[in-house]
Amino acid sequence: MMPLKTIWNDFSHLFFPHVCAGCGTDSLSMQAALCIHCMNQLPLTNFHFHANNPVEKHFWGRLPLTGATSLCHFTSGSLIQHLLHQLKYKGNKDAGYFLGRMMGNALNESERFRGIDILVPLPLYAERQKKRGYNQSAVLCHGIAGIMQLPVSMDAVVRLSATETQTRKTRIERWKNMEGKFELVKPADLAGKHVLLVDDVVTTGATLEACGHELLKAAGIKLSIATLAHTV
Ligand SMILES: [Zn+2]
Repeated sequence: MMPLKTIWNDFSHLFFPHVCAGCGTDSLSMQAALCIHCMNQLPLTNFHFHANNPVEKHFWGRLPLTGATSLCHFTSGSLIQHLLHQLKYKGNKDAGYFLGRMMGNALNESERFRGIDILVPLPLYAERQKKRGYNQSAVLCHGIAGIMQLPVSMDAVVRLSATETQTRKTRIERWKNMEGKFELVKPADLAGKHVLLVDDVVTTGATLEACGHELLKAAGIKLSIATLAHTV
């Protein structure tokens, strides 16, 4: 006799189509958001094993880090771009959670990321999060947390909103001025801990740098960074 769970999984497909976030095939396990073919296509960096990897070098002289890594290389028009788009604009939180779990497995493989105490997603502007309904970096964090068994801090640091201050400036000026402004509101939550700051993709690194400097205001913290993809 078929186990009840299998029957339910088959049955539930009728209501919630479960397809690969990469290619759309429905031949994948219930627990996966990507099929085997797409998983094999992911351009993994293996940076987590290597000190002085390109992401770490990118922050040299800008932000003192214990370690930094990205799970995948980003190339335009590729599977990883498609997955980032699914995560950021198509509401595909399952894909983000699954990719976060892959990040967690990678981090767990490396001695270099053993001492992490708490995960912090790069905050979004409140307006953007409201519009999207979630923070994609927080989704990745929850995936990582499930594997590494670590807490996620959702409110220790906030991204300042352009709409709340500087009312005399134009809208564009306000945006420029507030890009990458963060405020550490609960330093005690992070004091003395090794914090892993998580984002979806690192490009210039300016936003992570700004948020990282704010986090480093908490007493005695160590800071590392992990992203799903990098373009550095
Ligand atoms: Zn696929």
